[in-house]
Amino acid sequence: MTGLLTIGAFARAARLSPKALRLYDELGLLVPAEVDAASGYRRYAPEQLERARLVAWLRRLGMPLARIRVVCDLPPAAAAEEVARYWAAVEAATDVRRDLAAFLVAHLSPEPEDTTMTTTPLAIRYAVRTDRGLVREANQDRAHAGSRLLAVADGFGPYTGPDQLADVAIEELVRLDGAIPAGSLLDALQDAARRAGAAVRERVAADPALAGGGTTLTALLWSGSRLALVHVGDSRAYLLRGGELFRLTHDHSVVQELIDDGRLTEEEAASHPQRAILVRALHGGDEPVTPDAEVRDVEPGDRYLLCSDGLHTVVGGAQLRAVLLAEADPDAAADRLVALANAAGGPDNIACVVADIVAA
Ligand code: MN
Repeated sequence: MTGLLTIGAFARAARLSPKALRLYDELGLLVPAEVDAASGYRRYAPEQLERARLVAWLRRLGMPLARIRVVCDLPPAAAAEEVARYWAAVEAATDVRRDLAAFLVAHLSPEPEDTTMTTTPLAIRYAVRTDRGLVREANQDRAHAGSRLLAVADGFGPYTGPDQLADVAIEELVRLDGAIPAGSLLDALQDAARRAGAAVRERVAADPALAGGGTTLTALLWSGSRLALVHVGDSRAYLLRGGELFRLTHDHSVVQELIDDGRLTEEEAASHPQRAILVRALHGGDEPVTPDAEVRDVEPGDRYLLCSDGLHTVVGGAQLRAVLLAEADPDAAADRLVALANAAGGPDNIACVVADIVAA
């Protein structure tokens, strides 16, 4: 074949590195026109430059590789729409981070003694559900909602009796469900999460029936206009604000790592055989596990959803948002979410907490 470019020449023309080109080939994003069977040398056709440039531009936009692959395979008009959709989501996520940054600036600034600042007193309304689902023999999911604390824990392991590792974890946190100074919110919740991890480790070590068991833990502790979040595993916390649903947690799972690397799309992940395998959880291992932790601002009108994978694996984000928008009452919303998971086959235990922050 003539007219083909070496990987070096093509990389220069496309303003991509040869290393990036090899990765894009591996991912099926930009496959060379010819690969020499003997040497493995890749050669590219000049017509491929257009696609390569599009890939480079989308990377500069920060778009994940899996999504770039989708855009590249669309006709131009649909590709334009997809880029617009992606950018709208980036801006929405940035808004949430901007709020967090503003909160942190205020939080870290020396506080004036003046307390005349007008703040709206806030209250919480909540609903909590756990459900066995339609397939599992026992329910190992646990959930808690109180005036200060919201938590879900998805227990796993061979033991299916009443006193679950998820209970052990939540019991440690429930002690926090009282008045806590807003300034020490995150410390208090992180300490409790650490105690929960230690309690789970001790319990597993003490009882052979619990070998191989563990639990996820996702919890929110709320005080004043602030909220602390700790998270380990693949249960999730979401925030519905201004009609948009934001995911506040990152799954500690094998498939999430594949998604982060651009090797899998969210859609592909839903049916991936390894989707339930966790890379982090509270369990019986030797090493203490560090949960993700952060502090966020709270606004009247915020609605929080905490749920185990028994809900979010079978009920997608758009459907979660639709239910949370449609059902004003937290109890009605929680009931409908559990019903939807069971309507989708109820393949796993389901835990969910729906909580509204309202002006008191
Ligand atoms: Mn589960």
